[in-house]
Amino acid sequence: MTRVFNFSAGPAALPESVLRQAADEMLDWHGSGMSVMEMSHRGKEFIAIHAEAEALLRELLAIPANYKVLFMQGGAIGENAIVPMNLLRGKTGADYIDTGEWSKKSIKEAGKYCTVNVAASAKDSGYTTIPKRETWKLDPNAAYVHICANETIGGVEYHFTPDTGEVPLVADVSSNILSRPLDVTKYGLLYGGAQKNIGPAGLTIVIVRDDLLGRALPITPSAFDYQQQAEAESMLNTPPTYAIYIAGLVFRWIKAQGGLAAMEAHNRTKAALLYDYLDSQDFYAAPVARDCRSLMNVPFKLKDDKLDEAFLKGAQARGMVQLKGHRVVGGMRASIYNAMPVEGVKALVAYMKEFEAQHG
Ligand SMILES: *Cc1c(COP(=O)(O)O)cnc(C)c1O
Repeated sequence: MTRVFNFSAGPAALPESVLRQAADEMLDWHGSGMSVMEMSHRGKEFIAIHAEAEALLRELLAIPANYKVLFMQGGAIGENAIVPMNLLRGKTGADYIDTGEWSKKSIKEAGKYCTVNVAASAKDSGYTTIPKRETWKLDPNAAYVHICANETIGGVEYHFTPDTGEVPLVADVSSNILSRPLDVTKYGLLYGGAQKNIGPAGLTIVIVRDDLLGRALPITPSAFDYQQQAEAESMLNTPPTYAIYIAGLVFRWIKAQGGLAAMEAHNRTKAALLYDYLDSQDFYAAPVARDCRSLMNVPFKLKDDKLDEAFLKGAQARGMVQLKGHRVVGGMRASIYNAMPVEGVKALVAYMKEFEAQHG
């Protein structure tokens, strides 16, 4: 068996030790005689798996007691509708910050449920920056302020937590959750699909402050009503049980690595290897402004895009896959989430140098 270095933006690489443990436990979880996939979500085995996953997530992020943790379905794209349905609380509008493809999708979807005020946009920079907080035109009557903490496609990431005063801050953290410490108390709500940094697709994590619950629009589907899901311990419908189990194993793995401070050090090391090389030559270009660069998703371009195919083919031959950039930005993108080892990034940089020497 050979495993590749998988630079996919999502679903993405998982820690090998987690996959091995899941394989070992596939047919018989802890003497239960069942696979986790076969368990009742209301049985004592799965209840324990679910409770441990939540406890570990709470521990890793230091989530205060007045926040609910919900394990839902529908992905971050589902949350684009679920958030306004739940958080308008009698108000009619919400503020959104436009930093790229994922913000644009959030804005479009929220527009079905409320008046969206785009309080700041990075469009003029070609989505290579995060608009400075001082430039945001926030509406004091907004129900919430929405940001995309890490734009997975464009590769811009917030390296500050915006102060929005009394108005709750909502963040799509799909592609950078658990990559470094985060102060949950600065947010009203955090959400993300699991398939970037946490586990299999199909699980959505929602972390929401208590006082924001209980005022969903009457049209809100019950399965997507945070209050109802909170009361039902995320079991109003059958939760994505296997994905929750794998997420729990990933949380345990993160804790064993030293928690989020250790993850941050690991992720900064990898990102620096790549960005330092990109900044040291002119065969490849990194489009994103330095102070907004993502630690998770690193887009870059070859100076001659006619070489793109050859670059990708050579990478594949060396066991490095999924480096093709998203079609809206083109070029390449290396997604280097928690589970990507430093060796993977070293191998990529070595190959980039080799390719440059051949074609530069
Ligand atoms: C991947 C991603 C999404 C989409 O998530 P789905 O699970 O496909 O709904 C939304 N936002 C961000 C920032 C993402 O990285």
